[in-house]
Amino acid sequence: MKPIYLDYAATTSMNPRVLESMLPYFDILFGNPSSSHFFGQKGEGAVEDARMSVSKALNSQPGNIIFTSGGTESDNLALRGTSLFARNSRGANRILTTPVEHPAVANTVRQLQELFGFEVDYLPVNSFGMIDPDDVKKYINKDTALVSAIYANNEIGTINPVKEIGTVCTSLGIPFHTDAVQAAAHLLIDIEAENIDLLTIGAHKFYGPKGMGALIKRPQIQLFPTQTGGSQEQGLRAGTHNVPYIVGLAKALEIAQKSFLKNESRLIGLRDYLVGMILDQIPQAKLTGHPTQRLSNHASFVLQGIDGNQLVIVLDRAGFACSSGSACKTGNPKPSEVLKSIGLSDEMALGSLRVTLGNQTTREELDRFVASLVPIVARLRKTQP
Ligand SMILES: *Cc1c(COP(=O)(O)O)cnc(C)c1O
Repeated sequence: MKPIYLDYAATTSMNPRVLESMLPYFDILFGNPSSSHFFGQKGEGAVEDARMSVSKALNSQPGNIIFTSGGTESDNLALRGTSLFARNSRGANRILTTPVEHPAVANTVRQLQELFGFEVDYLPVNSFGMIDPDDVKKYINKDTALVSAIYANNEIGTINPVKEIGTVCTSLGIPFHTDAVQAAAHLLIDIEAENIDLLTIGAHKFYGPKGMGALIKRPQIQLFPTQTGGSQEQGLRAGTHNVPYIVGLAKALEIAQKSFLKNESRLIGLRDYLVGMILDQIPQAKLTGHPTQRLSNHASFVLQGIDGNQLVIVLDRAGFACSSGSACKTGNPKPSEVLKSIGLSDEMALGSLRVTLGNQTTREELDRFVASLVPIVARLRKTQP
């Protein structure tokens, strides 16, 4: 039997139409967009079309799109670039963030704290991992260089009230960054209506290529480049444009947004079907994250008395690909910080299971998954010391 993929939050397969759109830019149209001759113009045209398309999808302007090598780089640029600029220009020395960030944000903040001397404030989250915009009001002040809060959580699926957070930050003139790598695959995002100053996206989470992302910024936001060199991307991200991948990101985002309504209702139906089956059929299983304010494709649990890493290995042998915690690899016995921050004990947090659905997922696959999962969990529980 073919293995069943239920790990779309880790990555997605590339849409064949995206691949097709990229191919000419590897050979026939190979010019460097920075060259002024015919070959360069073709490359530049493709990059500018992609910029236009991305800006339209997110209600931005083409001049506000910075192409990067992925979600991680966009997060790094947003955090380091904006914090250092804010300190340089107005002496701001604090970063306000949350305990439920992806490592691309969390570890960048940690470095800014340890090596660059920033003070860090963490907003509280409730038991669903959600931020209260009123807390942003309480914690923010004129020393805040930047607020960074994840849009939709990769581990537990919870969607934050981003618009309300953005409104607080904008009213005080403090830059607001959100990591929307998961959100961009499943939500319609409008950076103006939602008052988002800096938005991170990554193509491989929405059926585009790996190693490709963008940082979208509002025009008034100023930041230092973290990669210096040529004048590409307004000098904010030097380096020859990765033309085929830029084309691929734009195409993938366009497709994701166009098929939004159709896909989302289907995914929500499948997600709720899966959550219902698991909570019904597995004793002492608990849903993590918000029950409704969550990503349409995202189901996550903690299973008492289970080692999540071991469960993922056993499920893999049975033909199902899913994940535990945020760790991409096994052998990391530390419980996830995100799960601890929502009040779970270390023991519970180690029993996490994340099942994320996508374009290819069917009801029949989920039936087969649960039919395998139930006896596997029972057996693992029996053999636990
Ligand atoms: C995957 C992911 C990232 C990292 O993006 P890459 O393109 O893989 O570097 C950052 N944030 C979140 C929320 C993610 O899910």
